This record gives sequence, C-alpha cells and structure tokens, in this order.
Amino acid sequence: MRRWMVWGAAAVGVVFLGLGWLERPPAPRRAAEVKPAARALRISETPPPTPPSVVEPGPPAPTQPDPTRPTSLWLRASEPAPIAPTGIYGSAQGIPILMFHRFRARPTANTAISPEVFRTVLETLKSDNYCLIGLDEYLENRFRPECGGQKLFAVTFDDGHPSQFGLLPEGTLDPQSGLGVLEEVFPNARATFFLNVRNGGKPFGKQSERKVALLREWGLEIGNHTISHPRLDRVSNARAVREIDGVCDYFDQSSMLLAYPYGVAPRTPLPDLKTRCAVPAAFNAWEGYAAGVRGGEGRPLLAVVPAGSSAFEAMRYSLPRVNIASLEDLRLDVLENPGVYTLPAAPAQEERQDGSVSPKLFSRAHT
Ligand SMILES: [Zn+2]
Repeated sequence: MRRWMVWGAAAVGVVFLGLGWLERPPAPRRAAEVKPAARALRISETPPPTPPSVVEPGPPAPTQPDPTRPTSLWLRASEPAPIAPTGIYGSAQGIPILMFHRFRARPTANTAISPEVFRTVLETLKSDNYCLIGLDEYLENRFRPECGGQKLFAVTFDDGHPSQFGLLPEGTLDPQSGLGVLEEVFPNARATFFLNVRNGGKPFGKQSERKVALLREWGLEIGNHTISHPRLDRVSNARAVREIDGVCDYFDQSSMLLAYPYGVAPRTPLPDLKTRCAVPAAFNAWEGYAAGVRGGEGRPLLAVVPAGSSAFEAMRYSLPRVNIASLEDLRLDVLENPGVYTLPAAPAQEERQDGSVSPKLFSRAHT
C-alpha cells in the first residue's frame, strides 16, 4: 500500500442533519476588488532566497510536525486505518480541496513541495480546465460565473509557514513563496490560510502583522488552525475550546473555518463542542486515497459538492482535503479522479432551480 489515510476519521460518520447554517461574517474583501497592481509580481533577477528555516517561538510543542520525518504528520502503518467516510464514494461528486504546508527547493517531507513543482501543479490544473474557487464559494454553493463549465478546486495553506507568504524588501509579494506562485498562475487568487498564533502570534514569521493585513486587503481567507497546534483528541474539551476561541480572539473574528491540527477532531466533535468562536465547517487532512482504496474499488476522497445534500451535512465538520506533494499526487488524486465535479455552464437554468440540489451560479454581482 503506497499511502495511508491520514488522521481524522474519528468524527466521520457522525451525521449533523438539520443544523442551522452558521453565518460567517462577510469576507472583508472579495478578490475582484483587489487592484491588480497591488498584487503585481515583481520578478527578482537575483536568485530566489532560500526558504527560511522554521522558527518555532517558545518551547516546541511535542506534537509539532518534524519536517525531517516524512511520516510525522501522517498515520503510521502500524496504526489502524480509520474508517472511510461514507457518502463520498460511488457516484458522489466532489471538489478537490488541496492542502499545502511549506515550500522549499528540495522538499524532504510530504508536507513540503518545491515552488517549481507547485507552479507546475497549478499550471496543469489551469490547462485542464480547473477554476480556482474560494472556500466561501464552496460552502455557500455559489460560484463565480466565470467558473461555469469548468472543474473546481480550492487551495489551502496550513501552519502559517514563512515560505507560504514572503515579501521582498520593496514590499511586494515574493514570487517564489507559495502565495507568489499561486498569484502568478491564478491572478487575484483565492485561498485560505489556516493559521496558528502560538505565544501571541507571528504567523508567517517576519512582518507577520503586515502579511495578515495584506491577506485581508487582498480578500484571502484566514482560517483557524488552533493556537498551539495540539492534537485535539488528546486535550480536554476545555483546552480544545480555548485553542479554537483564542484564534478568533487574535484575529478579532466571531466565526472562522477550522482545520484540525493533524486532521484530528476533538473528543467532543463539533458542533457539540461549545466554542464561542463559530465554526461553520471544519477540515481534515487526508493524503489522497483512503487506505486500501487507491488501486481498489473505491474513489478518492473529495469534499462533496455542498448543494444542501445530506452527504455534505454529514461531513460539515470533517471535510476532506488532499495533500499534494508531487505531480503524481495531482495525477492520481485529482486529474484521474472520476469524481471531480464540473460546474454547469448554464447559469440561467441553474438559477431557476433555487432550493434544489443542483448547484447554482452566483445570481448577484460577485464584487
Ligand atoms: Zn498544521
């Protein structure tokens, strides 16, 4: 078996039917409002800087991923395989939500990818008729008209590693950082950054506050990855609540999407875990096909098309993301994935189906 399903199936199968939709506050800014010049790339003629090493403020948390140990984030072979979620195999259609952690020239772990391979991944998706959507579009089941007729995908970044978002000395986006590459291939890109705020903050390392402000200015989403990145199943419910609420407090938000550290849900699953910070949806961390699925009869793991379906509601707090560390990952988990959903190209017809299970396009100006 080449790869394993990752942490996080514990909460799977728990059905949260009938839950009220937790409204998220309006995004501070849509990407369409971004002035192109504000995010213009300035290609440096000097060699790209070496990705900074990770500086963990304060004492290292014992459960932090060790970049030198490729299996540290993922389920070890000796551990029992989690139960695969139901509702996403067979005829279910889904949207790949890609997960990235750090960018370095010579990756040593499957949580890293080189900027060059990342660029090729994105260019391949673009040429294969994929439209980059934001998680707000995914969760609201409302997509930009320009994505009509295309397959959809979303990009997420975890942990706030400095290599995800670099600024050049003149203050422009570092084209070799993760966001720089994404912006180059998909201008005015949409993405979600799931951030930790250990010891008072400093996601992305240097110029942290400036970068967080720019994310908001550019309409990129800040997600919750807990304060200190614990395995939430190994801490008390009270601690889990503090870990989630503390990030909302830091970013002064009342509602944030959540990515479980290591993809592991808390002992008391959401929404029963009474957080002050609203969590409209939560995401796992999977590595492609479920255990025993790749090469078998199953289907790869995809976040299902929402559409108000029971399958989506069952997965609202355990939505799968797929880790992409190579072009082979992309091929097996996305490009050759028979379950990838294609957005209809007929918005007028879809709009009349309000309330149906068919996704509909934006009916209002997406500004
Ligand atoms: Zn993480």
